[in-house]
Amino acid sequence: MLEQPYEYSAHELVEPDWTRLPGFAEVTAEQWRSAQWQRAHCVKNLRQLRGVYGDLLDESFYADLEADQAGPATMSLLLPPQMLNTMVPGHVPTTAAMLADPVRRYMLPVASDRLDGAAASHPYAARDSLHEHEMWAVEGLTHRYPTKVLAELLSTCPQYCGHCTRMDLVGNSTPAVPKLRFELKPVDRQTAMLEYLRATPGVRDVVVSGGDVANLPFRNLEAFVAGLLEIESVRDIRLASKALMGLPQHWLQDDVVEGMTRLATTARARGVSLAVHTHVNAAQSVTPLVAEAAQAMLAAGVRDVRNQGVLLRGVNDSATRLLDLCFALLDGAGITPYYFYMCDMIPSAEHWRVSLALAQTLQHDIMGYLPGFATPRIVCDVPYVGKRWVHQVAEYDRERGISYWTKNYRTGIERSDEAALDRRYTYYDPIATLPDSGRQWWAERQRRAGGWIAAAEVRAARSRAASVADQLN
Ligand code: SF4
Repeated sequence: MLEQPYEYSAHELVEPDWTRLPGFAEVTAEQWRSAQWQRAHCVKNLRQLRGVYGDLLDESFYADLEADQAGPATMSLLLPPQMLNTMVPGHVPTTAAMLADPVRRYMLPVASDRLDGAAASHPYAARDSLHEHEMWAVEGLTHRYPTKVLAELLSTCPQYCGHCTRMDLVGNSTPAVPKLRFELKPVDRQTAMLEYLRATPGVRDVVVSGGDVANLPFRNLEAFVAGLLEIESVRDIRLASKALMGLPQHWLQDDVVEGMTRLATTARARGVSLAVHTHVNAAQSVTPLVAEAAQAMLAAGVRDVRNQGVLLRGVNDSATRLLDLCFALLDGAGITPYYFYMCDMIPSAEHWRVSLALAQTLQHDIMGYLPGFATPRIVCDVPYVGKRWVHQVAEYDRERGISYWTKNYRTGIERSDEAALDRRYTYYDPIATLPDSGRQWWAERQRRAGGWIAAAEVRAARSRAASVADQLN
């Protein structure tokens, strides 16, 4: 056999033994399989984390976590046992192994992960970095592309990811980030969304998201999706749930499987593609329970289960890690690798973000191993533009880490903007990845601007105030 940069080999999925963790030592297989048990035993604070790991982790780890939660964390802690159990999966965890673990690195961030001081945030980082709220057609419904909308039905998830791009809205407030709150009641918000879609036949594709739809009572999700299925112009419906991986037990519940079967049957009868989209970033997260949940959805009749991961430094920023993940998804669970997003420019995320140049290299390096339909595109979600394949960049200043992008459609907020299609839109590499000359250029800007964290915070506050004002008008 020819030697290759990546050596494929089939791996059997394994559910890590949860009894290796002191807090789960007595947990039975039946309890573990129960969504209620998983939800009731989520880790939401330091005390509960100690209850799981006890003395396995040094005090320094707990202090590191506490410092992050009290300081820069943009998301509060929320981890189902299922997710905790995929950290350091093959061993009894040690502090060093936990610190190095890719799942821990994005689901349980600690202060020492982040870059120091001002370097922790890019000067152009912002709370709602994709300006989704500015593009709300009605509360929670982002109309950013000509034919597609994103419906944010709720602002909670069964698990909170440290790098969440919707950190502005999703989850509990943290000391660093008081969260935006929906104003309409859920039922009124959903009614307004359905009314908008009925009145806007140019939209054919609805991503039903949040938050995570696994946190909606299923009858509410079913009612909303059934409403979508009655709109003739809606041809694609995608349900977004990281819980398919983080809490697969939810998607294995009888009432959920039966409800999904009803929805999928109606969708097929009407020629609508109903799919489930999940968010898995590391191969070790794909366990037999995750595969079972994905298979249950496919057996219920959804057209596909697809993965939209996020490209994160220290988690999956190598071709080997990406391909291991893709093969675990595809071979092990029947989940189609679809996208990897570059991490968005939210505050305190510079240690997770990678440069566009690295993303382009990774896209090159993963080509040719997977079937074409399951070869994920690595995309940059460019503010005010949307997803762009990383090789679509119009111009790229590698020294300063500034990439320039173009767009070929208008969003709702650009109706009167004549220049929207001629303008170039920017995305920025993490400054720490730039050559000396590029870092110096940014330092000089920082000096002139009077401090880049201040500049970023002011900009974030302005963007928040502007979008709130938009909603009120
Ligand atoms: S599951 Fe999605 S919406 Fe929820 S915290 Fe994670 S990235 Fe954010």
